[in-house]
Amino acid sequence: MPDDTATDQPQVNEIEVRGLLVGVFQENCWVVGNKRTKEAICIDPGDQADDIVHMAAEMGVTIKIIANSHAHLDHILGVRGVQSATGAKFLLHRDDEEIARGAQESARRFGMEAEPVPDPDLWVDDGTKVEVDGLSLHTLHTPGHTRGSVCYYTDELLFSGDTLFAGSIGRTDLPGGDYQQEMTSIVEKLLKLPDDTIVLPGHMQQTTIRNERQMNPFVVQELRDRGMLAPGDPDGTPGGSGLVLPSDF
Ligand SMILES: [Zn+2]
Ligand SMILES: [Zn+2]
Repeated sequence: MPDDTATDQPQVNEIEVRGLLVGVFQENCWVVGNKRTKEAICIDPGDQADDIVHMAAEMGVTIKIIANSHAHLDHILGVRGVQSATGAKFLLHRDDEEIARGAQESARRFGMEAEPVPDPDLWVDDGTKVEVDGLSLHTLHTPGHTRGSVCYYTDELLFSGDTLFAGSIGRTDLPGGDYQQEMTSIVEKLLKLPDDTIVLPGHMQQTTIRNERQMNPFVVQELRDRGMLAPGDPDGTPGGSGLVLPSDF
């Protein structure tokens, strides 16, 4: 007999996540869905809306919410297409509203034709629960890459946008960027998460909070500056490592 018992807590094995590398800027779009309720959240549809909707269909789920980590061009150009195909609500932090409004113009500067980004249906902020049936993401406001950058967390799974990458961090030299603010967001919000948390970033490969605490040169340097390197932590060699910042924006 199938177990249809509804519980308040989603069972871990009900949750499925798939990623798709989209657009010329090679951005990771994530679809996280509940296989039992068949409802899903799409994070950062940066381009190729049709492919994203197709991937959700293959997963057997419907995208009910589009939750953006921030409003940079490479994360947002697929919002309109996913929304018109699914009717999903679009969520963003208010502090990135201006960037979202400028996305079309910004695309033009890259020689790309883009439709305007739809107005957000809801603003997220620190602590906002982003919920579909059987799945709830907790919003962490992590300014630094942009003022309105957020990460979404559930059950040892973190969608980190362009705040934290494997071995790197999002660039902070664009409008609204602030290096010290970004490091504070990472140390005071993200490093508080369980070490085993899997980090699914906006670019490049996945990692874990433990890996980044121990190996990410930016994080290790910041922890050292704060006198927070635990005894026994490897002594990283930040700076001068030839590490290249991701060239996204
Ligand atoms: Zn990006
Ligand atoms: Zn970005």
